Amino acid sequence: MLIRLRDTDRRPLGHVTVDAESRPPRVVPASADGSTREVFLDWERALDDDGRLRACVACGGTAMYRRKAPIWFTPFALLLAAGGLVLAITGHSSHPAVLGALVALLVIDLVVLLVVPTRLVCYRCGTDYSGLPIAPHHGRWDPRAAARARRRG
Ligand SMILES: [Zn+2]
Repeated sequence: MLIRLRDTDRRPLGHVTVDAESRPPRVVPASADGSTREVFLDWERALDDDGRLRACVACGGTAMYRRKAPIWFTPFALLLAAGGLVLAITGHSSHPAVLGALVALLVIDLVVLLVVPTRLVCYRCGTDYSGLPIAPHHGRWDPRAAARARRRG
């Protein structure tokens, strides 16, 4: 599985690929700035009997949610949708460029839904996981669960 690690203050530490079967107790993630820092992972009670993650190995948090879209996609989609809305309000909605941009947004959205794997994200620290089976009890992002995770610190 691929883990994009964050610390307890939600600062990115880098990414690492691990074999969940081997449960490595410590890893050295590849960080964006090239620095190296050893991170300890807590696998105790992190996996269920079917090998699905039920707790964050970085912080031990048990509240997690699934996310489909990659991080870069949301601002891009919002920008294109806002541009389309502005052009529609100003009466340019039938312009071929506007229609082309909206069709491009639709196609990209469909590709993201069909191709991009689902990630599992920890509410508490923001560490996210991909390339692993996800237990069905993990739902989509819920603002109440996020608030509860923030209060627990
Ligand atoms: Zn966590």
